[in-house]
Amino acid sequence: MAFRILILGGTSDGRRLAERLVADTRYDTLLSFAGRTASLQPPDVPHRVGGFGGVDGLIAFLSAGRFGALVDATHPFAAQISSHAAQAAAVSRTPLVRLECPPWPKRAGDVWIDVADMHDAAESLGRVPRRVFLTVGRLEVSAFGAAPQHEYLIRAVDDFYPPVELPRARILAARGPFDVADETRLLQGEGIDVVVSKNSGTPATYAKIEAARSLKIPVVMVSRPALPLCRVVGTVDETLEWLESVQESPSNARGE
Ligand code: NAP
Repeated sequence: MAFRILILGGTSDGRRLAERLVADTRYDTLLSFAGRTASLQPPDVPHRVGGFGGVDGLIAFLSAGRFGALVDATHPFAAQISSHAAQAAAVSRTPLVRLECPPWPKRAGDVWIDVADMHDAAESLGRVPRRVFLTVGRLEVSAFGAAPQHEYLIRAVDDFYPPVELPRARILAARGPFDVADETRLLQGEGIDVVVSKNSGTPATYAKIEAARSLKIPVVMVSRPALPLCRVVGTVDETLEWLESVQESPSNARGE
């Protein structure tokens, strides 16, 4: 019987990992999505969509599916599901690894205002109205209702109505990867004064940071939330190595 792997997805790395695993007959892989985006691009691998119903639901799902390993390949800002994954893995004794790309480092020429959360990000924009390129995801936009004086260009995967608290906001629906030339044109064309970004570390969205650097535009950089301690790997290849070692471990009886 193939070794069953549950991948908690929502990132391009999660998708890439599932695509690599599905080609390997030793493994039986299921990729899970929260179902937050209306425009989910269905992957060409077995997948499911929707929450598990909290920690207990995830424990039950892992046990019922006889999964031999759990890969948390969710976005580094998806703190709740990572916490659930750590708790469920501990209770069900399922080996867990988190696949997470390292945060972007600050490079020479970057003008970053480092903040701890969205509340601080909104406050850091100051009182004087500015033209803000807001790239923090649809669900985090409401925090900027505390700073309605600014003009916001909000980029998100799905189109949506800007919240009423932000009278001078426009939505730009677009999905990465983005390139530096396009990002530079966008920042210049829109007369952007400041960019707000999560430090996702994702290569697909790094071009805006490079464009801001070359145009000397400051970036309000939101730090990652603290996540539970667990085994962390930075690449799909390292995840595959870890899975290989878990699958070969004699103590892992689930997949046999
Ligand atoms: P979250 O706050 O950590 O999770 C909220 C709930 O969504 C979880 O408790 C779980 O519901 C469900 N969930 C999350 N990821 C899931 C998955 N892969 N499969 C099944 N259920 C999942 O997450 P979030 O910040 O709202 O992000 C939602 C999803 O979007 C994540 O999968 C994440 O990878 C992706 N994403 C997030 C961001 C971001 O900035 N937060 C950016 C890009 C992509 P139950 O408790 O019912 O199990």
